[in-house]
Amino acid sequence: MTKHRTAKITFAHINDTHSHFEPSSISLTLPTSILDTETSVYASCGGFSRISSAVKEAKSHAYLKEREFMFLHAGDCFQGTLYFSLYKGLANAELLNAIGVDAMALGNHELDMGNGIVADFLDRVDFPMLVANWDLSQEDQSKPNTLRDKHNVYAYDASNDIGRYLVKDVDGEPVAIFGLAIENMAGIANPDPDTSFKSVVELSNKTIDAIHNNGINKIVILSHLGYERDLLLAKEVDGVAAIIGGHTHTMQGDFTNLGYGVTDEYAKVINGTCVVQAGCNALAMGQLELDFNADGTLASATGKNQLLLGRQFTVDATRTEHLDADTHDRVKQFLTEQSNIRFCAKDPIIENILNMKYRPAVRKLQTQHIAEITEPLRHVRIPDNKGASQIAPLVVSGFVWKARELGFNVDFGIHNAGGVRSSLNPGPITCADISGKLLPFAIGLMVYQVKGKRVRQALEGAINNAIDNGVEGTGTGSFPYVADLKYTYRCCSEEGARIESLQVKKQGQWVDLDDDAVYSSVSSGYTATGKEGYSALLDYVVEPQAVNVTMAEAFEDYARDMTQLSAPTEKLISYIPCECAQVAAS
Ligand SMILES: [Zn+2]
Ligand SMILES: [Zn+2]
Repeated sequence: MTKHRTAKITFAHINDTHSHFEPSSISLTLPTSILDTETSVYASCGGFSRISSAVKEAKSHAYLKEREFMFLHAGDCFQGTLYFSLYKGLANAELLNAIGVDAMALGNHELDMGNGIVADFLDRVDFPMLVANWDLSQEDQSKPNTLRDKHNVYAYDASNDIGRYLVKDVDGEPVAIFGLAIENMAGIANPDPDTSFKSVVELSNKTIDAIHNNGINKIVILSHLGYERDLLLAKEVDGVAAIIGGHTHTMQGDFTNLGYGVTDEYAKVINGTCVVQAGCNALAMGQLELDFNADGTLASATGKNQLLLGRQFTVDATRTEHLDADTHDRVKQFLTEQSNIRFCAKDPIIENILNMKYRPAVRKLQTQHIAEITEPLRHVRIPDNKGASQIAPLVVSGFVWKARELGFNVDFGIHNAGGVRSSLNPGPITCADISGKLLPFAIGLMVYQVKGKRVRQALEGAINNAIDNGVEGTGTGSFPYVADLKYTYRCCSEEGARIESLQVKKQGQWVDLDDDAVYSSVSSGYTATGKEGYSALLDYVVEPQAVNVTMAEAFEDYARDMTQLSAPTEKLISYIPCECAQVAAS
C-alpha cells in the first residue's frame, strides 16, 4: 500500500466572470464613523487586470509559505458584456490564458450557443476544462469541430464509466481534481443533442472509487452546480475535501462592513467537505488554504473572498467627482484594515492585451448612435396598472423584421420579458445600450414551425409559469411579448382555457389563429427550446432553424432601420388578473 502524506495547497478561485474584463463601479456604504450615512462612496472594483495581479500575489504568498498553488475558474466565463458580443469565446480564451487559469469547469453559459463554440474555445486555451459528467461518447464525429478527443477536455470516460480527473502533484503527494456541470444542461442551455450530462452523485461516487483504486486519497471537485447543490453534494458524497463552485453567483462571507450582506462563512464545512464560491463578474477572488491529513481527510480550510479594489474613491458612480482629501484618506485607511478587501494594481500585461486587441472596437461600438428614443420607454415583465412593457414589443418586432429580412417567412414572433433587461430614456441609443444593457444575453434567434394550438399552449404555459398560476414557476421572466400576434389571458379561467382570444396579423388584418394550421414563428433560442413554460413549442412540425444573429444584433439592425423608436400604439396583450385569488399581485 502507498504511504500517504499530508498536503498543503492554496487555491485562488473565481467563477461566473461573464466577460467582465473591465472593472465595475461599486458603491460602498461605510460605518458612520468613517462617512455619514447620506453618502456612499464609489470604487473601481475587479476586472481581469486586477485579478491577474491578485493571482500573482497569492501565488508568491503561497510559495513563501511552502504551499502548492492552483488558480481555478468554476465556470460561466461566456456572455455578459460587449467583449462577448464582439469576440464570443476568443477574448475569453486569450485573457483566461493570460491571467494564468490552471483549470476550469464548464458553465451553462458556455453552452448557450451549442458545442461548437466550446470546441473552438478549447482549441485556444492552454488549460484543461474539467467536466467529468459530460458524456461525449456518442458525439457525432462529422461535426466541424468535435470535443471528444481534445486533450484538454476531462469529460466522462464511457469505457470505464467514470469521470476523467486531473492529478496535481503537491510536493510529492497527488491530489485529484474533477469537474461537474449542471445535470439538466439541456433545460437551461443549448448543448448539442448528441452529448449529455450524467447524474453528479452517481458519477462522483464512481469517480472517487476509481481515484482511490489508483492510490490517491486527496480529492477536490470544481463545480458549476450552484451553491445549494454544492452543499447538498457535500452531504451526499464522501471522500471530497473541497468543492470549489460557481453558477449561483454566491459571495460567501460577511460584507456588512461595506454595506453588503452576509452569505454563510467562507469555506463552509459539511460532512468533512468545505464548499466555496466567489461571487461573480470578476469583482472578487477567493483564496482557499486547504490542508489535507495524510489519510486524505480535510485537516483545515481557511481563507476568504476579497473584493479587488482600486485606490481612488469618488462620490458618484461615473467616478468623476472625487472625495475631499481628508475624507479620502479616512476611507482609504478604513478599507485598508478590512480583510475582505484587497487593493490591487492593474497588471500592465493584461491592460496591454485589452488595449492592443479588444478595447478599441468595444469603445467604438459603445459610442455609436444608431437610433433616437423619442419618449421614455418603460419595461415591466408582467403588465401592471400602468400597462405592459413598452420595450419588449419593440424588441420582438425587431426579431420578426430581421428574420423576414433574412428571408424567413415568419408569421409572428414571441419573446419572453426576462430577455429584456432595462427601461430606456429618451435620446440617442447606442449599441452599447442594446448589447450591454437592454439585451445582454448573446443568445441567437431561432425560427420554428408549430401548430396553432401549440402556440396557444405555449403562451398560456409561459404566463402560468410567470405568475405561478397553478404551477410552480421559474419566475416572472417567462411572460410572453409578441409581434403580429395578439392574445387575451384570463387568470381565473380553467387551466388550458386561459388564452381566450388569439389572433394573427395576415396582410394587415387580424384573424383568429387556427389551432390546426401550421405557423412559423421567431424567438430567442432560449424560448424556442421550450424553457420556462414554453415546452409546447417543442412539438414542432419542422425542426427549429438557427437564424445566426443574436437578439441584440437583430434589434440593433431594426433600430437602425427605424431611426426613431416610440412606445407601441397597438395593444397586443390583454392580461386579465384574477382579483379574487390575487395571483397576479406581485
Ligand atoms: Zn453565471
Ligand atoms: Zn451558470
